[in-house]
Amino acid sequence: MRHIDLHVHTTASDGTLTPSEAVWHAARLGLSAVAVTDHDSCEGVCEAMEAGAAAGIEVVPGIEISVDYQGRGVHLLGYFIDPASPAMEHLLELVIAERKRRNRCMAEALRADGIDVRVEELREKYPDSVVGRPHFAAALVELGLASSVKDAFDRYLSIGQKYFRPRQYIPLDEAFAVVRDAGGKAVLAHPLQYRFPEPELLRMISVMKDAGAVGMECLYFGYRPERVAHLRELAKRFDLCVTGGSDFHGSRKPEIEMGEPFVPYELLEELKCR
Ligand code: AMP
Ligand code: ZN
Ligand code: FE
Ligand code: FE
Repeated sequence: MRHIDLHVHTTASDGTLTPSEAVWHAARLGLSAVAVTDHDSCEGVCEAMEAGAAAGIEVVPGIEISVDYQGRGVHLLGYFIDPASPAMEHLLELVIAERKRRNRCMAEALRADGIDVRVEELREKYPDSVVGRPHFAAALVELGLASSVKDAFDRYLSIGQKYFRPRQYIPLDEAFAVVRDAGGKAVLAHPLQYRFPEPELLRMISVMKDAGAVGMECLYFGYRPERVAHLRELAKRFDLCVTGGSDFHGSRKPEIEMGEPFVPYELLEELKCR
């Protein structure tokens, strides 16, 4: 049976494989299609599409946008977007400017405690990436202040920790409008990551559906079968198609392998019909 992965990060955001490497990796794993879905960036899409043509694997152009849902960041996947869309380019410029502001705040807070992490150095070290907390986490590991990226998040960078600084997320309606203007289809990413109790989960799905979501990522790395079954039921109830992906980040999240969980190719066909 043909299978796919609709959620993969590259060096264009916080993955460790370049877009070409990620696509060739997908091809070697025997996947029939792979979507490149970098955080707030479609910089990797063109390279990935070219690699897909060379490797003989279908590449779906995508993006993962953090949108504002009641003051917190909920992730929206945009598939089949045109990376050169002016609306998308404009949106991403705003996101990058806001990230720069926030990165400076985090660096200042660290420096006030004698921890020397410079934004300019991170930008030089990861020239093609959207620099964010994962890169700060890597720097803290290199300085010997954390044992792993996860440890750096848990002790310093996660919400509630000393060096966490909030950033303003894109308003929900604006994000959906831009995905639509860029010719894309919007899908709610990993609905269980937000740890909402059931009534809140239903409310979020309903809001997303009303805003224009066509699908929901029900298959996701680590989701247990009974939870997946429940999400599938909810997708049906809200007339959303079911999608799935691993959220592969290369060695930055070594526990996650591309192509897990198993996502059948027919789900991509259903998404295309939406
Ligand atoms: P940012 O967009 O800069 O706020 O960083 C968010 C990204 O950091 C997420 O997309 C994850 O890839 C990563 N991240 C968030 N929390 C953790 C964690 N506890 N451990 C490892 N990575 C994390
Ligand atoms: Zn990420
Ligand atoms: Fe996400
Ligand atoms: Fe992701």
